[in-house]
Amino acid sequence: MSITNYHRKIETSNGEISIVIDDNSGFCFGVVNAIKKVEQELNNKNELLSLGNIVHNEEEVSRLNKKGLSSINQDHFAKLKNNKILFRAHGEPPESYALAKKNNVEIIDATCPVVLKLQQRIKKAWLETKEQNTQIVIFGKKGHAEVISLVGQTNNEAIVLENENDISLINYNKPIIIFSQTTKSVEDYMLIIERIKYKSNSTFESHDTICRQVANRAPKLKVFANNFDVVVFVGGKNSSNANYLYKVCKLINSETYFISSASELNKDLYLNKKGIGICGATSTPMWLMSEVANTIEETIRTELNILGASPRDIKIQKNQTTNLKTKK
Ligand code: SF4
Repeated sequence: MSITNYHRKIETSNGEISIVIDDNSGFCFGVVNAIKKVEQELNNKNELLSLGNIVHNEEEVSRLNKKGLSSINQDHFAKLKNNKILFRAHGEPPESYALAKKNNVEIIDATCPVVLKLQQRIKKAWLETKEQNTQIVIFGKKGHAEVISLVGQTNNEAIVLENENDISLINYNKPIIIFSQTTKSVEDYMLIIERIKYKSNSTFESHDTICRQVANRAPKLKVFANNFDVVVFVGGKNSSNANYLYKVCKLINSETYFISSASELNKDLYLNKKGIGICGATSTPMWLMSEVANTIEETIRTELNILGASPRDIKIQKNQTTNLKTKK
């Protein structure tokens, strides 16, 4: 494990306590790009509307709200005229673009390039195969903004599979082309593909369209979580990526706890531990994980009555590889 961002050590009479933030956690480039667009816009004008919350993280949404970002829902968007709207990284279906054009609403398009490419692939597959009655199938969460944007590429004809129970929605005598929402688990997708392939009596084509920003995090997080006595996972409760990555950590290290902000920390869970790891999802801002790390550090110092250097004076170690679990 490479520790580059935040590794604080506290010397105690009983040995050292380490607090480390996972440097592979935090915003993916799609979210970084969307937030950059919001901040650029708010630098020129002091208010901006976004269609839905910019990111599945209430703390980050609240930070941007204070700067002038407000989110509106589909009903409000339908009535909006002569204004400006931000489309977030999840993307939007063609109807949203048409509505904005009709109502003279300027679009600031922060659709992630990975989602945009997937939208184009689905549209191409649908256009090229609709004459053969091919079913376009999307493995994803029903009602999720990205999935709505993907289904929209097929005139809302695509079949959405949320789990194995939904595979009965498919007609196995017709051709099938399946894609995945970008944030699904690779293992779950492979399982569902195998089930469908087995049942299919016609042509079957599958595309692994899971974003590697998500898929590559799970194996790295497993290594990270295994190195600590306790793991604090920071994420939005309504983020599917956060819930998935939390489960990945919890499976490896049963002493993993999910919190959304520093105020939810329970000191009983980390006092008396020697190695404390902090990590998060693709929608978790680094500033929030730093706030959690600082709170843990300050609480330990207060509880153990350790005086001297303030938290920010502690040396940060770079490029160190180590296991910080208590030796038993
Ligand atoms: S997880 Fe991947 S597809 Fe989704 S916003 Fe981030 S980079 Fe884009």
